[in-house]
Amino acid sequence: MRKTRIIATLGPATDSPDRLGALLDAGVNIFRLNMTHAKHEWVRRVVADIRTLAHQRQIIAGILLDNQGPSIRTGDVPAPISVTPGERFFFTVRGGQVPAGAKGTSVNYDDLGRDVRPGDTLVVDNGEMKMRIIATNPEHVECEILTEGSLGSRRHINLPGVHVSIPALTDKDRADVALALELKLDYVALSFVRDPEDLATLRACFHGHSHVPQVVAKIEHQFAVDHFDAIAHAADAIMVARGDLGVECPYEELPIIQRRIVKACIRMGKPVIVATQMLESMITNPLPTRAEITDVANAVFEQADAIMLSGETTVGRHPVACIEVMDKIARRIERSGGANYHEEAELTQPRQKLVRSAVILADQLNAKAILVFTRSGQLARYAAAQRPKHSAIFAFCPDETLAGQLTILRAVQPIVLPSCSEAPEESVDGAIQRLLSLGRVQRGDTVVIVIPHATSQDRQADSLKMQVV
Ligand code: PEP
Repeated sequence: MRKTRIIATLGPATDSPDRLGALLDAGVNIFRLNMTHAKHEWVRRVVADIRTLAHQRQIIAGILLDNQGPSIRTGDVPAPISVTPGERFFFTVRGGQVPAGAKGTSVNYDDLGRDVRPGDTLVVDNGEMKMRIIATNPEHVECEILTEGSLGSRRHINLPGVHVSIPALTDKDRADVALALELKLDYVALSFVRDPEDLATLRACFHGHSHVPQVVAKIEHQFAVDHFDAIAHAADAIMVARGDLGVECPYEELPIIQRRIVKACIRMGKPVIVATQMLESMITNPLPTRAEITDVANAVFEQADAIMLSGETTVGRHPVACIEVMDKIARRIERSGGANYHEEAELTQPRQKLVRSAVILADQLNAKAILVFTRSGQLARYAAAQRPKHSAIFAFCPDETLAGQLTILRAVQPIVLPSCSEAPEESVDGAIQRLLSLGRVQRGDTVVIVIPHATSQDRQADSLKMQVV
């Protein structure tokens, strides 16, 4: 069994039922819907297909809706504009015109000129093109081109070190979040999170709804790195969004930031995703580069909960092969050991300590599995955070909604068992029978079981037992 979870972003290369089924069979745990590109009609269709296909296979697949967030984009241009170093380029706002004879295009953010200052750097298209800001006025921002390039329509703009004052959630994001609530999606990710208040703004959209998705904070600029601890406390999970992060921060800092974030998340018990360009060359090539293999291996060695594919599975030529490659690397590296950052985990609750004992016991016994019966998901999260060495974690939970929200957790396989909520103690036999029938355990295997007390609010009344199946 692979412990590291795999997230695949969906797009034209993967949105047919055949491809979705092939991705599930290859081992995808969570599908990501990138709302920068997705239309609502498409989301509804794809979500229905994923649910049908997962149900047919008796597996739980999570679905993550990733908001565009406060992203600044260039306008439409009739043809790509070529630029060379030293040239002037104008970004216009509020219907302003590019001066006659000069090069330029519009941007979707009216207050760009108010947020930036002469001397600031402006980066277009994920680092493809760099410019220095020379002057601003209410109608345009004038830049000097620093690197040669060609600028097409709706390119993403980064402003390293600039505090952009766009609200955390745009009107489009709010409509997309409403869709996530309507479709009861498992995770909602917020892009360009700056501080915990941005997450509070997202959570406010959930008020009055019975379905509450897990919130993933995307760490993609220096402000988020600077406020990381507070953001992590306010989030349910963290994504190291290396695409923007690698543009917003000096690139040589990226490996250090990734390691610090993964380490901090494991210490805090927050699930963490390492994302972007993990197998970039496989967008066209059938095999990964050696450097990509090592990058995936590094994230697995760091014991991140999940690794994520973007362009590789949205528009790539080999989406299913990408999952197979990640699966193969993850299984191999997991066998070789890991960074074990969980040894410094902060355990404040008695239940966390009980779960830690369960994981130590499972490690010592070389147990096949740890079984947790979980009503809110908390026990499963505690168990995953303790990074068991050999054992799979089977999280028995009362319904599919909770099961979907556990799909991000390293080593956790959620299983729906309605009875586990009222009478966990009496559910043990049924749970073991279920694992036997699914072929997840065999007779003679040792398992460790964490059972919450059926009625007590006193969480110290939970119990721990070991059993030979
Ligand atoms: C990233 O920047 O790495 C990322 C995952 O965000 P997006 O794909 O939304 O730009």
